[in-house]
Amino acid sequence: MALIEDIINLLESQSGLTAKEICAILKLEPEREKDVYSALIKAAKVLRRKGRRLVMQPPRCKKCGFEFDKVKATRCPKCKSEWIEDARFFVD
Ligand SMILES: [Zn+2]
Repeated sequence: MALIEDIINLLESQSGLTAKEICAILKLEPEREKDVYSALIKAAKVLRRKGRRLVMQPPRCKKCGFEFDKVKATRCPKCKSEWIEDARFFVD
């Protein structure tokens, strides 16, 4: 629960971060990036109850511009590139 609150507080003051950046700022081990993703999903629910919104700018292929419809992507299905811009999160 504490991680969720930390993430909400962080995004309220510094919008548009990736899970990797959140990990670094909160001084979490890089392996905990997946915990950040699941905490973000829970944070979205917490924010909705407060009448606010967590907005995600989805991952995007930096080569062809393909936009993913999921939170985490490693490889572009269109051009097979692995040069992916991570999803960014905003609090509305
Ligand atoms: Zn691509």
